Amino acid sequence: MKMQDQQQEHTRSYYAATINEPVDYAALEEHIDTDICVVGGGFTGVATALTLAERGYNVVLLEANRIGWGASGRNGGQLIYGFSSQSKLEKNLDGNNSDLLWDLQWRGNDIIRERVARYSIPCDLKNGYVQVATKPRQLAIIEAEAEERARHRSDFAYETWDRATTRDMLGTDAFAGASACFRDGHVHPLNLCIGEARAAEQQGAKIFEQSPVVDIVHGKRATARTETGSVTADAIVLAGNAYSRLEPKYLSNLVFPAGSYIIATEPLPREITNEINPRDVAVCDLNNVVDYYRLSSDKRLLFGGACNYSGRDPKSIEAFIRPRMERVYPQLKGVRIDYQWGGKIGIVLNRALAVGRIQNNVYYCQGYSGHGVCPTHLMGEIMADAVTGSLERFDLFASIKHFRIPGSQWVGNQLIALGMLYYKLKDRL
Ligand SMILES: Cc1cc2nc3c(=O)[nH]c(=O)nc-3n(C[C@H](O)[C@H](O)[C@H](O)COP(=O)(O)OP(=O)(O)OC[C@H]3O[C@@H](n4cnc5c(N)ncnc54)[C@H](O)[C@@H]3O)c2cc1C
Repeated sequence: MKMQDQQQEHTRSYYAATINEPVDYAALEEHIDTDICVVGGGFTGVATALTLAERGYNVVLLEANRIGWGASGRNGGQLIYGFSSQSKLEKNLDGNNSDLLWDLQWRGNDIIRERVARYSIPCDLKNGYVQVATKPRQLAIIEAEAEERARHRSDFAYETWDRATTRDMLGTDAFAGASACFRDGHVHPLNLCIGEARAAEQQGAKIFEQSPVVDIVHGKRATARTETGSVTADAIVLAGNAYSRLEPKYLSNLVFPAGSYIIATEPLPREITNEINPRDVAVCDLNNVVDYYRLSSDKRLLFGGACNYSGRDPKSIEAFIRPRMERVYPQLKGVRIDYQWGGKIGIVLNRALAVGRIQNNVYYCQGYSGHGVCPTHLMGEIMADAVTGSLERFDLFASIKHFRIPGSQWVGNQLIALGMLYYKLKDRL
């Protein structure tokens, strides 16, 4: 399959403007024989490559554009426990082994913290993530979560806030209450992704950018081909998420790209940041179609949301997002917007990760449905286990049943958009 897009640099975001070090890995122009080849240099691919390199395997990572070019370098930076497959895994486990599920929910978060510390990655890592109820009925979700945490006797700081406390903590009357978890947090995702790629390289992984894989040749060993080179490996991991078009026979219409968009204000004065976020936490609402925000290290408000499921980007991201920000913070009316950008999240119909294996040695993992910063790190570990023969946790995910929408991707996107319209309307009730 041909990849028609031109290779690109990082999108013009706040993150790209504040990158620690530009990345510039060479393009693949040779044939390489290796243990494992990873396709896609976002969190999934980089975490897989780094885990394998740490374990002493020979790994080659091929990225079509730049490391962190996709969702991983553009997202809200919110470190949120759990993953979108949770309810499906609960069913698979028949309600047994809730400790295993609990540990899985936190593993991605722990991996990020371990790596940031071990490799000294400067990425503005902060503790604190707050889920806000935009309606009183959502307080039940917060109560249920608080009970779950009590059951697991978690010893990290977790607080529930009533309306008045939420107002004091977030400087807005928009919310009916909230929960605050200080084991979660936020991060500069592009600097994290680039730092992890550097760590993988230091551990011996070979990284190539501007090297879109155009097809996979199956066999006893598999080969990933680019226009100017190829990599033959014992196993290949496909980690292109919403941007990948590889293996259409097996994977088309399984994951649908949906747009999510972020604006970054000018740096805000201290009186304002003290009023709207004195504890410097990440915030996300509990709606089906979420809004999320946090402060950057230079005190801009990064406000995102408004997923677009139809496959069409808005004409002006600022015009699309600003009213949502000003609804929560009328005090920011007229503030200057310095950056605006969007990226693609991979939506799966049943919201569970699409994980599997094609012809024995080509593995894939995609479709985080908008919640991927921590889960990608968990899945990097699980994919590394799987390609080296430990399939236990991989099978837990791979056994979840998925449905591929018949027809073209356009039809699929319209169906998803219709489904999301229903959820958007439900959010309003
Ligand atoms: C605007 C936005 C905000 C978000 N906010 C949050 C948040 O706050 N918290 C959270 O948990 N999640 C968030 N997400 C979701 C999260 O960013 C993703 O789930 C996660 O980054 C997915 O990582 P990935 O590595 O699987 O995919 P990506 O990061 O999309 O990486 C895929 C990479 O594969 C490459 N690729 C594709 N095809 C090929 C090919 N043929 N050859 C070579 N390379 C290829 C692409 O160029 C790309 O770099 C957000 C997403 C977006 C878009």
